[in-house]
Amino acid sequence: MKHERLIIIGSGPAGYTAAIYASRAQLSPMMFTGKEAGGQLMGTTEVENFPGFPEGILGPELMEKMKKQAERFGARLAADDVISVDLSSRPFVVKTATEFVEAEALIVSTGASAKWLNVPGEAEYKGRGVSACATCDGFFFRGKDVVVVGGGDAAAEEALYLKKFAKKIIILVRSEIMKASKIMQERVMNDPQISILWNTETREVIGDGKVVTGLRVVNNKTQKEQVLSVQGLFVAIGHKPNTDLFQGKLNLNPVGYILTEPQSTRTNVEGIFACGDVADPKYRQAISAAGTGCMAAIDAERYLANH
Ligand code: NDP
Repeated sequence: MKHERLIIIGSGPAGYTAAIYASRAQLSPMMFTGKEAGGQLMGTTEVENFPGFPEGILGPELMEKMKKQAERFGARLAADDVISVDLSSRPFVVKTATEFVEAEALIVSTGASAKWLNVPGEAEYKGRGVSACATCDGFFFRGKDVVVVGGGDAAAEEALYLKKFAKKIIILVRSEIMKASKIMQERVMNDPQISILWNTETREVIGDGKVVTGLRVVNNKTQKEQVLSVQGLFVAIGHKPNTDLFQGKLNLNPVGYILTEPQSTRTNVEGIFACGDVADPKYRQAISAAGTGCMAAIDAERYLANH
């Protein structure tokens, strides 16, 4: 079995930043990027809020640059998916479809995935009107009309954030109640810029081949359909942390995010560190993920120096 000092699992901004720091610390990390390397930014177009790129940069281009930077200092990348981990003894064992690899320390940066509606047109117009992140993409909807789908705190927060840019915001709630906290509900309900359509589901995202031009929706009580003339769809129906590999092996919060110690990336298993969206239900930004990736590499370096 191959033996590594440090294995990084996952290749978004957190994983690559951890790889840059760990390789510059001479740890020669091995990184399993997964078959779909690069994380959530691979599905975005322009990224305008990552410091250092005043003109903006395309998501996939930013990830390519991070990858090159990690490789420049000696990180070794394998495009395999990790299919299981054994954390019950040391060294830890990471298994892919083709090999078992031992590791003295592990950094978990497997990210989270936005949940999508899976309706026709949604995938086709991702990055061209369809988004799961108002902080990332709201800026592109200045003066436009947009829909936010969802009834939780995230949907309310996205709608309130979009007020800065959009002319009109319609929230689609699939039942007759919002799950969001009372205060968030009151804010969206009392806002003249925001309206709510209850018992309403999305059937189809309509576009002109280039960008979104409307949304076909249905009232699930009356079955009445209508087309909303909007230029943006923000899906805010929750995220799923990619932690299936770690169920029952690392401490997770009730919705599956890895728990870390405050001000640290340490998990409940000594020698295992978590960074990026997999441990962050709150901020979910590329730059905050990169920041915790740096922390994870420093935490791992100190752990390895002491063991
Ligand atoms: P939630 O799970 O709280 O809410 C998801 C919402 O999406 C629900 O209203 C749900 O409807 C709806 N939904 C799910 N699937 C579909 C679908 N296919 N079509 C239409 N609607 C759908 O997720 P959030 O991301 O909103 O929040 C996650 C956690 O993060 C929560 O604990 C939340 O409180 C917290 N959070 C806190 C914030 C804050 O405090 N500022 C901001 C953002 C999040 P239904 O109710 O019918 O199931």
